[in-house]
Amino acid sequence: MNEQHQRIKREKKTIDKMVHIYCKGHHETKGKELCPECTEFLAYAFLRLDKCPFQEEKSTCGKCLVHCYQPQMREKAKKIMRYSGPRMLLHSPGLALHHMLDGRKKPQTIEEFRKKKAQSSA
Ligand SMILES: [Zn+2]
Repeated sequence: MNEQHQRIKREKKTIDKMVHIYCKGHHETKGKELCPECTEFLAYAFLRLDKCPFQEEKSTCGKCLVHCYQPQMREKAKKIMRYSGPRMLLHSPGLALHHMLDGRKKPQTIEEFRKKKAQSSA
């Protein structure tokens, strides 16, 4: 696999944490365990990130204008973010802070993004 941008690596770490917090709170898993359902979700979220066209330019998935998640997975993502988002501050203040800062990056449409890329490489 290609070397990934820090941005994506960090987003993966954040999602990984959030899924664990959610799973522990809802499915009575312990420590680093994840139930099959959450394992599946996490693998799906990682795959979406690997394929994210914005990479280092991305805002957080919650703000993204490109809806790359399947509706059913998006519902689950929303539930997880709503539950784990506030709890992240306690569990991983550093990651939570980064996530907040990343979220301030203005989300852009794929067209805007491509235009910008084309300009900067010209
Ligand atoms: Zn679970």
